[in-house]
Amino acid sequence: MEFTKRWMKKKLTQKNDETDLIVVGGGAAGMMAAGTAAQLGKKVLLIEKNTRLGRKLGITGKGRCNLTNNCSVQDVIDAVPTNPRFLYSAVSQFPPQSVMGFFEELGLPLKTERGQRVFPESDRASDVIDALTRFLQQNHVRIMHGNVRKLLLEPEGVRGVVLQDGTEFFARQVIVACGGKSYPGTGSTGDGYTLARQAGHTIVPLRPSLVPLETQGKECAEMQGLALKNTAIRVYEKQKLIYEDFGELLFTHFGLSGPVILSASSHMRKMNPGVYRISIDLKPALSLERLDARLQRDFEENSNKDFINSLSALLPRKMIPVLVARSGITPETKCNGITREQRRDFAGLLKDFSIAVQGFRPIEEAIITSGGVNVKEISPKTMESKLVKGLYFAGEVLDVDAYTGGFNLQIAFATGQLAAEAVKEAES
Ligand SMILES: Cc1cc2nc3c(=O)[nH]c(=O)nc-3n(C[C@H](O)[C@H](O)[C@H](O)COP(=O)(O)OP(=O)(O)OC[C@H]3O[C@@H](n4cnc5c(N)ncnc54)[C@H](O)[C@@H]3O)c2cc1C
Repeated sequence: MEFTKRWMKKKLTQKNDETDLIVVGGGAAGMMAAGTAAQLGKKVLLIEKNTRLGRKLGITGKGRCNLTNNCSVQDVIDAVPTNPRFLYSAVSQFPPQSVMGFFEELGLPLKTERGQRVFPESDRASDVIDALTRFLQQNHVRIMHGNVRKLLLEPEGVRGVVLQDGTEFFARQVIVACGGKSYPGTGSTGDGYTLARQAGHTIVPLRPSLVPLETQGKECAEMQGLALKNTAIRVYEKQKLIYEDFGELLFTHFGLSGPVILSASSHMRKMNPGVYRISIDLKPALSLERLDARLQRDFEENSNKDFINSLSALLPRKMIPVLVARSGITPETKCNGITREQRRDFAGLLKDFSIAVQGFRPIEEAIITSGGVNVKEISPKTMESKLVKGLYFAGEVLDVDAYTGGFNLQIAFATGQLAAEAVKEAES
């Protein structure tokens, strides 16, 4: 029995020793890295803990996968608030147009939409996963489903990985592409940080980015479920205007969500209760003067109606009680009793409906994890650890994050590709 065990272990070791590179994590970065390294002649083992590859990719872009942004290298770098310079080599080597060419060569037609966002023509994220899976198969990447718990480290460098069940796999090069800590149901549960720590890396504290916001007071909860399609927002840090956007916003039981809010959140780098304020312009198409004139007309037409009953043509039903309460005008005031000053103040309120931000929703609800493996300890030219030879990092596990628009996947693909190229250059 003991002999059989030892024999099996030896066989496993011999077999595993045939592997040049182990890639941990079969997401965007890991699939790109594994396929590229194999294409360059390396024997690659990709280990993914889910039974399916690319689960997070499947939910990107609301199931349509905004896989890159058809812009210049500099524009990508400008869309990265955290450690942009670290990404320069990776994005220059594999810029958006190369990412697009890569997928098109794999038989995936693409289209570019508003804001230079690139999607598969089919509008199906699953087609992106299929294309990457084909890439792995064409290049004979071995795929294994298992949960990597530990790195095997020797003084000379990395030697392999250990799975949850104790199975060891050996290779002199390992790329950690475990993703961040957001949407843990997709498999990204922060394991990459544990592996990095084990290798002596520091982890820059994690925080959510592209995340809904909790707000102060109960007003948002009172409007829960209300979506505003064409809203302009301004974000103030204390008194300073730091961000402006236009688009869709959603009121929820905890505060604010929707595309404009997620984008705004990645500009809030000093989150603390009360530091940030969102000013919503409920009538962006009208200047203050024109809005005041409109209110004057509405109030004249409804002169004998109560104020609260005169606003249905102007505002969604759920907003009316909230705005009336904010206005300070008694709801039962007849429209002909509203003073000019009250009317102008109310117009001002519609143009600047301000909500104080309490904080971010938890990281699990964020599109992106900000923070992660400290990039000072990683070579920007190779993605290799400066602490452990043969150990590389790619994708969201690194302390880099970007705004919406396809930039985060662009980063995952570019860092995965660069790590694979570097593995090829290094000795096995
Ligand atoms: C709802 C949503 C929508 C998004 N939409 C877009 C978009 O349209 N465009 C865009 O650019 N970005 C988008 N993003 C962000 C984008 O998905 C990520 O930036 C990207 O997936 C990061 O790639 P990654 O390979 O680093 O990590 P992931 O894609 O998270 O992949 C990591 C993989 O590693 C595996 N893994 C983790 N731990 C282990 C372990 N111990 N052993 C083995 N395997 C392990 C995981 O199961 C997972 O499959 C979106 C994110 C979310 C949550």
